[in-house]
Amino acid sequence: MEIICPIDAKYSDQIARFLAPSDRQEYFEQLIATRKCTGIKVKHDSDHGKGVYADSEFQEGDLVLKDQMLFGVQHSSNKIDCFVCGFCYRFISSIEHQIGRKLYLQNLGVSTNHECDQGTTSSSAVANDWNGSDLSDDEANSDTVDCQNFGECASSNTVKIPLPMEVVLSLMHEELVLPYSEKFSQPSVIPCRGGCNEGCYCSKLCMEADWEMFHSLLCTGTELKSRRKEALLAFIEHANETNDIFLLAGKAIVSTILNYRKLKAAKLKQKEKSVCSEVSVDCDCHMLLEAWKPISMGFKRRWWDCIALPDDVDSCDEAAFRMQIKQLAYTSLKLLKEAIFDKECELLFSLDIYGSLIGMFELNNLDLVVASPVEDYFLYINELPESEKKKAEQVTKPFLNALGDDYSVCCQGTAFFPLQSCMNHSCLPNAKAFKREEDRDGQATIIAVRTIRKGEEITISYIDEDLPFEERQASLADYGFSCRCPKCSEEQQ
Ligand SMILES: [Zn+2]
Ligand SMILES: [Zn+2]
Ligand SMILES: [Zn+2]
Repeated sequence: MEIICPIDAKYSDQIARFLAPSDRQEYFEQLIATRKCTGIKVKHDSDHGKGVYADSEFQEGDLVLKDQMLFGVQHSSNKIDCFVCGFCYRFISSIEHQIGRKLYLQNLGVSTNHECDQGTTSSSAVANDWNGSDLSDDEANSDTVDCQNFGECASSNTVKIPLPMEVVLSLMHEELVLPYSEKFSQPSVIPCRGGCNEGCYCSKLCMEADWEMFHSLLCTGTELKSRRKEALLAFIEHANETNDIFLLAGKAIVSTILNYRKLKAAKLKQKEKSVCSEVSVDCDCHMLLEAWKPISMGFKRRWWDCIALPDDVDSCDEAAFRMQIKQLAYTSLKLLKEAIFDKECELLFSLDIYGSLIGMFELNNLDLVVASPVEDYFLYINELPESEKKKAEQVTKPFLNALGDDYSVCCQGTAFFPLQSCMNHSCLPNAKAFKREEDRDGQATIIAVRTIRKGEEITISYIDEDLPFEERQASLADYGFSCRCPKCSEEQQ
């Protein structure tokens, strides 16, 4: 059975233009300038497309690049553990609120899911999600049952000793103050101006930026008409249940629509001013293409073509599996369309475009990881001089016991970084994604792992570079190339 999306048929020529690879030099120069990372350059060559090159020398451990994400999302399961800004992913509110909130949700029986995967490109994240979707449903159910009995989740090694709800609530509402917590306080919470419960920010700046770029079309607050609100909630729920990368694709579509409206408003204004009405506003497709520009730079393949076949799927079922993935994307797209459809931007709701966006995230995304101040707090208490420690622990110990092993869960999600995504792969990389102590928000940090000379290409590893040659080549085939790095060339012989 073939899936037919009417928009793909209607706009096939234009869609091809949207999906054609685009490498505009000035776009990258602008990005490098705004990120103040003067030590690098994006260059193109006919052999392997674009790449990032050193424009000055880096020593081992030097920061090569700090990249601001274009689109990011916190994993839905992680939202229980970590309360972070919805735009920059910095932790917000007090230590008391962080701990109280988590224990409150834990007491309510909301399930959690823990893995703290630092750094590497999450090539197989989607495949894992797909693989894990049934599994995590089971887990969710069993956790719910466990937690009804106040928190003894089977997933952790030490038994959690639950606290009475009134203690948890007074901590969450900051009526109860923990010793030394003021040293670890985070920005206070700025709510979404649309009045939804989802959007919480570290600053008015983040709130406004998110509103302008994404959230004004994704807010489920009170201002929204109920039909759209229901549709939006259905889209979000579907993504949470199947694959939260759909939320990222939704953000990409939404940001293009909002960009387009901004460009159009500017053009209309210009037209009002000019007497001889030379400025035309008819060429909407051109303007839409301009609004799409940041996304046009990312390397894309359709999700159902590039997704790695999970180990438990037999190769003779491959076609059926890929069709199922395509169907899943189409279901998500239809839900999104119901929620945010805009007639002038109709072609963005093509399945080809949606699938290519998800594929772009699949092939380029980095794990989004932000370390938790709650972990720092408990480490600090643990390292206090003996007498102070004893005194502090009389207050903190019950909370640590209630949290169990999960006290130090970091913020986790997935994000697309425009400059980092230009970095090519090597199994002998000279740089890697690595969060330092001071990196406390969702930006990507790329660090040199050895000396990089001026003019040398900066490479990272998309996969576990310690795997045997055949496994590396198989993993990299999903990215559409076979690696010819020095390590692979040597091992091939
Ligand atoms: Zn923020
Ligand atoms: Zn909102
Ligand atoms: Zn290689």
